Parts: sequence; structure tokens; C-alpha cells
Amino acid sequence: MSFTVQGWCPGALRPMQSGDGLVVRVRPPLGRLTPEQAAGIATAAQRHGNGLIDLSGRANVQLRGVTAQTHPALIADLTALGLIDADVRAEARRNILITPFADAPTLRLAAELMRRLGELPDLPGKFGFALDCAAQRVLNDTPADIRLERAADGQLILRAEGADLGAQVSEDTAISALIALAQWFVAAGGVQDGRGRMARLIARGVRPDGGLTGTHAPAPALPPPSPGLTDHGALVGFEFGQMRAELLAVLASFGSLRITPWRMVLIEGAQTMPDLPGLITSNTPLLRVYACTGAPGCLQALQPTRDLARQLAPHLPGGAVLHVSGCAKGCAHPAPADLTLVATHDGFDLIAADTAQGVPLRRAVPLSEIPNLPEFR
Ligand code: SF4
Repeated sequence: MSFTVQGWCPGALRPMQSGDGLVVRVRPPLGRLTPEQAAGIATAAQRHGNGLIDLSGRANVQLRGVTAQTHPALIADLTALGLIDADVRAEARRNILITPFADAPTLRLAAELMRRLGELPDLPGKFGFALDCAAQRVLNDTPADIRLERAADGQLILRAEGADLGAQVSEDTAISALIALAQWFVAAGGVQDGRGRMARLIARGVRPDGGLTGTHAPAPALPPPSPGLTDHGALVGFEFGQMRAELLAVLASFGSLRITPWRMVLIEGAQTMPDLPGLITSNTPLLRVYACTGAPGCLQALQPTRDLARQLAPHLPGGAVLHVSGCAKGCAHPAPADLTLVATHDGFDLIAADTAQGVPLRRAVPLSEIPNLPEFR
């Protein structure tokens, strides 16, 4: 297995080098872009990047094809839009995922957390928070370390990832308790060599004490929704979570956009589905297919990925998730998938029911033979 693991999460101020230039990741405040911010990002992506925009699995927006020369002007434009933090440290701390179906209490809690980020201890780069406390839980499949959720009886609870139960909190105490849980994570030895995740600490049998001890089970979680109309607006998807800046500019004209971790955008308040080229507006097997940038867009990729993913999508067994990865790092889908194809120098390894780092069922299958595998017939 050979790929580079970053000990940090790329952001806007600390972009990541890729095969097509720098990838600049923007964290929309409160998970939402106003029409002006969305239109501004579209303009900036064309002016300072290659016009390609990705949605990340943590509901961030990524501008591709930025250069070292264009990066300062891009940051200036994004700062004017209110999308840039004061410094790298502040940017790294704002790793907050908010349910796209946020209600008023959820938004108030998110705003309080944003105001109090400075009270958090130094946490590992990937450590994040999920505010999933609207009427229904929808972020259970999205990685996080500390969660605010609802119990079956509607009570607000704070839950450490990996723990079955959460501690009851109120709207007034929730953010203080969340900060206390983050401090406990550090004090309990959750960080080693600058890395660490809550679930790993909990798996070691370590448990928070006092008021942070959980007694409430979270309410059942819903699976990620499909494109369509919701009570909050229209959910639209994008092939491999990528769109052109021109499409974002048109979407901005419809209203504010809530960015989801499901490679979809919620157009706030829309009551009809837009019909635009490049938009996925109904359920399709493509939404169950993950493929990273692959070659030549990523420096670490050993093969192109997306043409193969498009070719295989219609042949997936019902409900199965396919992940096509340009290397074993598995960026596009860190969780296990039913079928994962990982590029090698000679073809693709096929892995069943595991992540891109799992043990292959078949090794180095040549590209031309993959559609004929029994798994895709
Ligand atoms: S998984 Fe894909 S995007 Fe990630 S490093 Fe490997 S080739 Fe690049």
C-alpha cells in the first residue's frame, strides 16, 4: 500500500496539491451559502481555478485547479464573501457538520459553537462535530467525533462517537458540555502524535464521567435521502459530487444553498425541482457510486477512475455501493463499500464489503475484464 497520509485536513488557507493544481476547501459557515456567496464562489472558481467545484463528504466546497499565483487573490475574494477564517488554526477548529434539515434550535446551537470555538482545546486535524439535532437524525453515516442529537423522547443529547448512549443536555448547556467532552477527550489520552479519534478512545474502554456519562439512546437514524423535494426545499445531486462553476452560478439564482455531506445541495425553500444539465434530480445508481479524481487529476492515482465508474453504475446489484479509487487511500469513500475497485499499476484490485485498504478478493484485474466480472453482471 503506498500513498501519502496527511496529518492535517486541507482548508482554504492551507490548500492541498493535486494533479490539476491546488484544491482549496471552503467550509460554509453554518453549512449554508447565501446566493451572493454561492455566486461569488462560482465567479472565483472560474477566475482563479479551473472552474471545477467538488462537494466533500463533510459538506465542504472545494475549488480545483488553483495555482500558487492565483491563491492569494482567491483568498481575498473569499474573504470579502465572509468565507475565510482569521487563520489556519481557526479554520481547522471549525470542523462542524450541521444537518441540512436544521431547525431554529439547531442553528442557534451551531451559532453558539462557532462563537465559542476558541474555548476548544487543540484537537487532531480530522476531529469534528455533528449537530444532528433536528426532528430526525440524518448524519449517522457521516463520520464525526462528538454529536448533538435527539433521543427517542425528543430530549437533546450529547454523544461521544463510539458510545451507544448520550448525556442529556439542554439548549443552554449543550455547547458547554460539548466543549467539556472535547477537553475530556484530550485529557483522557485521545491524542497521540497529534492524531486521534473519539471512537478509537471509546473502543479502548475509556468513558467520560460526571455529567458527560450517557444514559439516553439516540433516536433511530434515517439513511441519507434521495434527490427530490423536502419540507426544506429541493435536494439536487451531482455526478461524483462535482459541478462546473456555471452550474453553481445558476443554482445561486434560485436561493440560499445548504451544502450536504451526501454530494447533494439543498436549495432552500424551492418547491419545484430544477431541470438543468449536470443535475441529478431523481434516484439513480450513479448516486451509489463513488470515484475520486483519479488520474490524471491526482498525483497519487495509478489509473483513471470515473469513466470506469460510469460504465459500471448501471450494472450494480440492487442497492449496492461501488467505490472506484485511484489508489488505496480511498479518499472518495473512507467507509466500507459493497464493492471497491482500487487502481494498481496493472489494473484494479476488487475488494468486497470493506474499505479501499481491505484484502482483495481479486487482484490486478485488467481494465477490459472488469465489466465481465460476475460482480457486475
Ligand atoms: S484515493 Fe484518489 S484522490 Fe485520493 S490520493 Fe488516491 S488517487 Fe488521489
